[in-house]
Amino acid sequence: MDLGIKGRKAIVCAGSKGLGRGCAMALAQAGVEIVLNARGADALAATANEIMAATGVTVTPVAADITTPEGRAAVLSEAGEVDILVTNAGGPPPGNWRDWSRDDFIAALDANMLAPIAMMQAVLPAMIEQRWGRVVNITSQSVRAPIAQLGLSNSARSGLTGFVAGTSRQVAEYGVNINNLLPGLHATDRAVSLDTAAAKTKGISVEEAKAQREATIPVRRYGTPEEFGATCAFMCSVHAGFMVGQNVMLDGGLNNISI
Ligand code: NAP
Repeated sequence: MDLGIKGRKAIVCAGSKGLGRGCAMALAQAGVEIVLNARGADALAATANEIMAATGVTVTPVAADITTPEGRAAVLSEAGEVDILVTNAGGPPPGNWRDWSRDDFIAALDANMLAPIAMMQAVLPAMIEQRWGRVVNITSQSVRAPIAQLGLSNSARSGLTGFVAGTSRQVAEYGVNINNLLPGLHATDRAVSLDTAAAKTKGISVEEAKAQREATIPVRRYGTPEEFGATCAFMCSVHAGFMVGQNVMLDGGLNNISI
């Protein structure tokens, strides 16, 4: 399928690894020029080079912390006006409700709610002006099926989801579509860190913890960044013009939610 976005320009936040990288690669394969962000400059440059070599499109790396105003300013000033925005950042650590301080919540809100909102506020006016735009926010299955130990994530991402539910309806008439993409368990560094935490809690090996989690998924495996990226690219395509404010879950069937 021709996604109809060749020659468009995208910002992909937090995209040197994992799901963000998968989204950047899939958009580049569709002919989209990428401004790619992450904090670590070396991994970011390596990923940018890999995507350019694989696709032939221009990928401009901007090493910056997307959760800070300075980091966002660096990304936005390099990118200029864009057609597509993929928001993302690292997820908050797991834990217990007794231990989370106000500062822990503020950090989670900054990373997983206020940063994507600020990025949308920055790019939406130009998208509205040109009567076309796409925003995909990488959130989590925990928005629809909250996971107890990910309370910081549940809280921050629910706030973002509420913002998107309203704002997506306010910009849809201008050809600007905002949706959320909700990962279930995917084979990335984040999954390894969650497996490691589960192994520690249960006193088992990381491999056993992974196997236990895979067994709970109807497809019996973790999702891949490639599958995730392909879905993201479709949501950024010309074919997704009737998709507004949706929370698209990619979880291999883990969460038995009928609607
Ligand atoms: P990952 O493999 O750990 O990759 C995270 C990427 O984000 C890296 O490129 C990292 O590079 C970058 N990053 C992290 N913090 C950043 C910041 N403050 N500013 C800029 N870049 C930043 O993680 P992932 O699995 O792709 O997860 C992506 C998101 O999906 C996370 O929010 C995660 O919680 C959520 N999620 C993942 C899963 C899963 O199974 N993988 C499931 C549910 C939700 P640097 O460290 O160099 O900055």
